Amino acid sequence: MNAGSLSMTTRRDAAILIVDDAPENLAALRKLMVEQGYQTFVATSGERALKIARRVHPDLILLDIMMPGMDGYETCRQLKNNSATQRIPVIFMSGRTDTDDVVAGFDLGAVDYIGKPLRLPEVSARVRTQLQIRSKSETHEEQAERLRTIVNNMAEGLLIIEADGRIQFTNPACDKYLGYQTEELAGRSICELLNPLVAQEYLDYFERYAAAPQAAHNHGTREVIIRHRNGSSVCMDLTLTPMYLRQPLFIGLLHDITHHKQSEDALQRAAMVDPLTMIANRRHFDSFLEKEWQRAMRSGQPLSLVVLDVDHFKLYNDTLGHAAGDACLQQVAQAIAAHALRPTDLAARYGGEEFVLLFAETDGDAAHHLAESIRARIESLQIPHPRSSTSAWLTVSIGVATIHPHHLDNIESLFVAADRAMYVAKEGGRNQVQATKAGGASLAAVKALVMR
Ligand code: GH3
Ligand code: MG
Ligand code: MG
Repeated sequence: MNAGSLSMTTRRDAAILIVDDAPENLAALRKLMVEQGYQTFVATSGERALKIARRVHPDLILLDIMMPGMDGYETCRQLKNNSATQRIPVIFMSGRTDTDDVVAGFDLGAVDYIGKPLRLPEVSARVRTQLQIRSKSETHEEQAERLRTIVNNMAEGLLIIEADGRIQFTNPACDKYLGYQTEELAGRSICELLNPLVAQEYLDYFERYAAAPQAAHNHGTREVIIRHRNGSSVCMDLTLTPMYLRQPLFIGLLHDITHHKQSEDALQRAAMVDPLTMIANRRHFDSFLEKEWQRAMRSGQPLSLVVLDVDHFKLYNDTLGHAAGDACLQQVAQAIAAHALRPTDLAARYGGEEFVLLFAETDGDAAHHLAESIRARIESLQIPHPRSSTSAWLTVSIGVATIHPHHLDNIESLFVAADRAMYVAKEGGRNQVQATKAGGASLAAVKALVMR
């Protein structure tokens, strides 16, 4: 919009309140303003001017200073003290044109001061100028207000960060996500919110950007763990955009992904867990074993694998039904999982009525001991198995294999050894534990044991 069309608009729309106790001044000014296309209101006293101003919200007030009763200064003071009228620009008109008088007028918040006797063309020029300024500044204020509303109501947390990591501003969503009061985060460092490694990475990025803003890349979005004020951790997406506003600044947008995370975690858990028994599934066990195997190879610690198979389970199903079989597997799974106590232990359903347990950093004797404890526990559950030839209760046969993994060994060999030991237990009369060593020289001994 150019200045010409702007002044046209202001001329057409503006309402001017003219305040003067001299009727001839009022008449002349009113005529002038009407000629310019303004809507006019008049008041012959300060009191009346205040009343009209509150009702009609004029765009500008031409205010005489010397009036009986409430003078122009006092009228202006009261206009500025009232929130409904304080933003209306006031132009003083007075025959008192001493510097002190003029300064007093500006000190009260007037935007201009016109000396009397009035030169009418000068009055209309000054009025027009003030209306133009006001029209522009209103647009700025409206824009600022709109931006404020967006920032205050947006769902994303917003942070403005300085190049040294100092937080300059946070919006209400950010405060809420992180448990802070309004303005509590301002002045703190982002290092207080992030883990030290991540924080340092951001600080390095800030520094690089501040040194060469044109060369730096956008940091993009990444998932970060942020410390909530209550000490807990929240998982959020942080999008960082550099901005140069008199100084290098960074706009951070926080997007809550806790609920995505939760469903992601749930999916991940589901992929790792056997749905019938809710203990680990074969897939999870295999990857766990792989990791522990590598670790054991480095540490030289022994690794024990326990394989369990329910005795006469086909007969159990045939006798009591598949549903009873399922319930039974759940009980057995719990009894087994109760023995996997350390972070390096894992119990899993490996398929059908077969379970496995890994005991890392556990030698053959300790593993044998644990396996025997599991066997006894399951027997003590006294799950009736009416047609079993082994016992009146449900029982399991267990094979244990222990290895100090070596580069020449493989995981398969550990399984073979444990399975073989388990079959030795079956053949030996079931409801028992058999143990062996696996790998290297001892494989021959296993073979000898199984070939008997
Ligand atoms: P053994 O003492 O020699 O191990 O005899 P067994 O009957 O236990 O062995 P077999 O492998 O012949 O039978 C396993 C049975 O386990 C057959 C199958 O129906 C049953 N089974 C496998 N998975 C499930 C399951 O998820 N639920 C139920 N209820 N039964 C299952
Ligand atoms: Mg079986
Ligand atoms: Mg079986």
